Amino acid sequence: MNAFDRSFGRKEAVQKSAELLRDMRTVSFPLDVYGLLSSFGQQIQLVPYAELETNPDKNAAGVNPQMMSKDGFCTRIRDALIEYGDKFVEGSVWYVYYDDTAWKSRIRFTLMHELGHITLRHHQLLNMDTLIDLDSNPEYKAADKQADLFSINVLAPAPAVYRILKEHGFTYDKKKADWQLTNRNAPFLQNLGDIPHPEVLIMTAFGLSQPAANWRLHELPLELEVWKQVDPDLYALVEKLPHRAGWFCWVCHTRRRTTSMYCPGCGKGFHYEFKDFGKFTRPVMGLRKNGQFEFCSVCGNEDFPEDAEFCPICGNPVVNECENAFQTDGDFIRSGMEIIRGTHRCRPGDIYCGTCGVLTAFGRRHGPKENMWLPSPTSDRCRTLKTHYPEVIPTDDGRLLKCPACGSTRTMRDGRYCADCKQPLQNVCDSEGKGAHSCGANDRYCSICGKPTVFHRAGWLTEYTETREFAELLAAEKHSMKKRASRLLIQPDGEICVS
Ligand SMILES: [Zn+2]
Ligand SMILES: [Zn+2]
Ligand SMILES: [Zn+2]
Ligand SMILES: [Zn+2]
Ligand SMILES: [Zn+2]
Ligand SMILES: [Zn+2]
Repeated sequence: MNAFDRSFGRKEAVQKSAELLRDMRTVSFPLDVYGLLSSFGQQIQLVPYAELETNPDKNAAGVNPQMMSKDGFCTRIRDALIEYGDKFVEGSVWYVYYDDTAWKSRIRFTLMHELGHITLRHHQLLNMDTLIDLDSNPEYKAADKQADLFSINVLAPAPAVYRILKEHGFTYDKKKADWQLTNRNAPFLQNLGDIPHPEVLIMTAFGLSQPAANWRLHELPLELEVWKQVDPDLYALVEKLPHRAGWFCWVCHTRRRTTSMYCPGCGKGFHYEFKDFGKFTRPVMGLRKNGQFEFCSVCGNEDFPEDAEFCPICGNPVVNECENAFQTDGDFIRSGMEIIRGTHRCRPGDIYCGTCGVLTAFGRRHGPKENMWLPSPTSDRCRTLKTHYPEVIPTDDGRLLKCPACGSTRTMRDGRYCADCKQPLQNVCDSEGKGAHSCGANDRYCSICGKPTVFHRAGWLTEYTETREFAELLAAEKHSMKKRASRLLIQPDGEICVS
């Protein structure tokens, strides 16, 4: 029924780590070690050594920590009752003791090593409630090695590690037994300046200590072969898991864009470092072919004409251009390698143009400090979801079906005015007489100049923040940000239940 045997092999360690990454619904690396352990509820209890000494109640196994392993160890309590969902089930509980004074990355490895002992059923297979390092016991040595293999593969699974190395142009050199940069044109190396060190990449992306990263790199070719034996879907899932770390400008911490010559946050170039800032940076919105934003970064509206510079629903810009042509009056201003003229369309929120390094329209308006599209400093600047705002005023092929003021269908002066209430039936922007742009009947704001329209001013079109569509958009975004945590249960036979 299950594949456990007493050989304590690499394949089981790899298989188990892959399954756990799937079952706990891992979203990114570095792995949330404490989140993973807490999804086992009371079945796995963490006890730092410091607490073990001061709180005898925590010493369920009655052990002397000084006698035990340097980093951590794990004790099983059999025949416990475990709360799982709305019922109690019989099973084992494990106490994981660990040295909480060690380096963070070392603790992470230790905790996953102990989880390896638990999920690979070492307490059962070795028939020991507390796994003690006995030199005389070769089976224990093999089990301990297997727990290490589990730990490294759950923290830094071979396919995910291999993907990062490949992206950065590294391949394995068998003769030198090391990873070498062989593709200097790898997309991730564009504009980087310095060549990254594979060990630093791996340490940062997966939260490993330097020795663990080194070990990971050297065992990787061998381990990839083992990973190829797991289910291809599972392999693909693990390989594609994103990592939070990335290349950031070390001047302003803006995420590097491989296609840009200059940093969109500060206008400088070639100063990047691989970093994990502890949270995902705001999403970067895509652009349409003509340089317009994919959808409005404020209200999520996706419907605007090709020549629109402003969103007809909320009036915020839907393009961001550099002021190269404006500033230079047709001449070049940036001394250096290249003369670049004309404006370039930039992404929402870019302060400086990634192509020429000149200030953008957004940058002029908001300055380098306030790198926010939305007014609230607490919310993420860019929308991640788009929405469609339906017609409030019904039209047919752009023509009003009835007067929005009185409902009459009778018109005068070629349909430009309502015959009953004499209201104008054409929506224009409210720009005090001269130079008004004609707008769609449902435009709240002019897509050319961003000013409110007369239909909006008249109160026939509600502000976008009042609409059901916007409320739904906010709710959907909130929902998509929520973490779907799983609850895991280790059954007596070692199988893990997921709910
Ligand atoms: Zn161990
Ligand atoms: Zn920068
Ligand atoms: Zn908008
Ligand atoms: Zn430019
Ligand atoms: Zn009317
Ligand atoms: Zn206008």
